[in-house]
Amino acid sequence: MVSAQDNSQFSSGGFVLSLDLELMWGVYGSHSIDSYGQNILGVRRAVPAMLDLFEAEGVAATWACVGLLMFENRDALRAALPHRRPQFSNARDDTYAFIDAVGPDEASDPYHFGLSLVREIAARPDQELATHTFAHFYCLEDQLDVPAFAADIDAAIAAFEPLNVRPRSIVFPRNQVTKDAQAVCAARGIDVYRGPGPFRMDRPGGRAQQSTLRRGLRLANSYVPLCGPAVVDVAREGDATNVPASRFLRPYSGGAMAPARLQINLIKREMAQAARQNRLFHLWFHPHNFGTHTDENLALLAEIVAFWRNLNDRFGWPSRTMAQAADAARNTAAQMPGAA
Ligand SMILES: [Zn+2]
Repeated sequence: MVSAQDNSQFSSGGFVLSLDLELMWGVYGSHSIDSYGQNILGVRRAVPAMLDLFEAEGVAATWACVGLLMFENRDALRAALPHRRPQFSNARDDTYAFIDAVGPDEASDPYHFGLSLVREIAARPDQELATHTFAHFYCLEDQLDVPAFAADIDAAIAAFEPLNVRPRSIVFPRNQVTKDAQAVCAARGIDVYRGPGPFRMDRPGGRAQQSTLRRGLRLANSYVPLCGPAVVDVAREGDATNVPASRFLRPYSGGAMAPARLQINLIKREMAQAARQNRLFHLWFHPHNFGTHTDENLALLAEIVAFWRNLNDRFGWPSRTMAQAADAARNTAAQMPGAA
């Protein structure tokens, strides 16, 4: 996938794509199957189509999977639940409240089970399987219960074992990162994470900190660069490596195409800048964002991928998973004069 003529082993830049695969487990705080079920069902079409695009064009991607969706059936899921679970002051944050809603298996309940999707991702080249925690665990909604979080991450790692995958990267739900949570993950070999975007308005916080103004600013900043370009760099932070997000790809959801075009043009300008400066552009979204208006959204993604190919040809700017981006930054640091 990464062209041989580039000098990627000595550079830490690249195009990183990460996708949070969560089905209903990631949206219960704001949606129900009634209000969002069509988007979740649409994931079944969107994921294979994205994988076909990535394979055809040589794009690497990181798929951060919620552990709860990685089971054959309800019995296997129940047997894998951690004994210590978090208690949240807001009932909407308690994923376990929805366990009783789960059907017998993936065929009968495509809203909660997605092991076949994870297997399909695992079978494709250059796709990294990462964790999005076992139960879409929020680390900043309340004081973090560290033993409960450790039990969650242990369950997430165990869910990957039948696939012979040991996750190295994590995407924290709502990008809620804490030092304690990082330490739990790093102690288990999960030492790469997706940090929040580069702008003040992207700083993680609990629900209480997410004001309407802040959400409005984030929305506007998706279409016009209010705060400068979202070009970023990998950063070592203690035992962990931060591969920070640049932007969330807001899906086209009907109506006029003009806002989507504004966003794509902004993304392309920032990708070009990152490629010229050999830095990182890290785009992320959820497969369920493509669950409706799937063709239009896939076409926008294909346009971004085609633009990356052009930059790859001109600048040798590679496509990388989060783990590959972290490794490239470590290798680059090791080549620096004075490195041990
Ligand atoms: Zn999520």
